[in-house]
Amino acid sequence: MKITNVRLGLLDIPLHKPFKTALRTVEEVAEVIVALETSEGLVAFGEAPPTARITGDTQESVIAAIEKHIGPAIMNRDGANLNDLLDSVDRAIMGNSSAKAAVDIALHDLWGKTLGRSVHHLFGGGSSEIVTDMTISVDRPEVMAADAEEAVNKGYQTLKIKVGVDGDLDVERLLAVRKAIGDKIQIRIDANQGWTPGEAVRTLRKMEELGLAIEFCEQPTKADDIPGMRFVRERVAIPIMADESVHDSKDALNVLQAGAADLINIKLMKAGGLREARRICALAELFGVECMVGCMLEAKASAAAAVHLAASHSVITKIDLDGPLLFAEDPMVGGPEFIGPIIKLDESPGLGISKINGVQWR
Ligand code: MG
Repeated sequence: MKITNVRLGLLDIPLHKPFKTALRTVEEVAEVIVALETSEGLVAFGEAPPTARITGDTQESVIAAIEKHIGPAIMNRDGANLNDLLDSVDRAIMGNSSAKAAVDIALHDLWGKTLGRSVHHLFGGGSSEIVTDMTISVDRPEVMAADAEEAVNKGYQTLKIKVGVDGDLDVERLLAVRKAIGDKIQIRIDANQGWTPGEAVRTLRKMEELGLAIEFCEQPTKADDIPGMRFVRERVAIPIMADESVHDSKDALNVLQAGAADLINIKLMKAGGLREARRICALAELFGVECMVGCMLEAKASAAAAVHLAASHSVITKIDLDGPLLFAEDPMVGGPEFIGPIIKLDESPGLGISKINGVQWR
């Protein structure tokens, strides 16, 4: 069963409302879609959103990497030989983690569809449903409080609050949110590298003193400042999660050996796909560190892969897969069902996506 075509397409999906973090504001996402076609008529899907500010990957770079380098390396190869194919993807080009992730996801989908089994079963099985948090964009405190209330009314029990623009204002934001939603809702925060180490310590200690009950803080300081993150971790009680500091398993090893984080946020676009994400899971397990699985502004073709990963790896105890929920449309047919905070896995082969509507194929 040979891979006879590596098709690329663009898919524009509008968001319900602008997504704002300390790094960027986004209103519409232009996803790159990969479809692998085989000699026996199977079609497998992958996807990559452009996240230039995080991974360095743009829509153009993802397309060029796949068209010129990764695609040719897997053409006319046997789709069942997953590891061989993934080795070829790795060797085809340096960097380009989003392009590699899109193809890695499509290859896993193809592997499952070839074997007639769902990817989470092939990974060893596990939960048939998982529960995600909901992200609240950074904004004025009263706007964030209203957004948080709205999310709680929709059934979300855990909110991820974006902060990291100004430490004092961030404390105001959290006070407003906590007041609006009460004590029963779990709050985690994400500073997206927005603080200096000193500001992070002052801000997080203030949040501790005020009894804001923060579950953990994601990426308080700059991605490459591992000593800075350890400085913060050693001085606050709120657990510290590495996100932008950990792209692949080598980064995870550095951060874990440095004792710079209590938790790791795994994202397929940073890691370059499911195989590398599973290496991070294995390392985290060795170090006794739990993981979250997160996503970029991803629709279901790639978020489905993260869902299958989370459901089959017990070291992943926290889920931040609200990407598909932030879009105003769902162009994907099949795959996991996103019902408010509940994500239900299905048993269809591969990652479950059978068709993607609205793609402008190249
Ligand atoms: Mg983050």
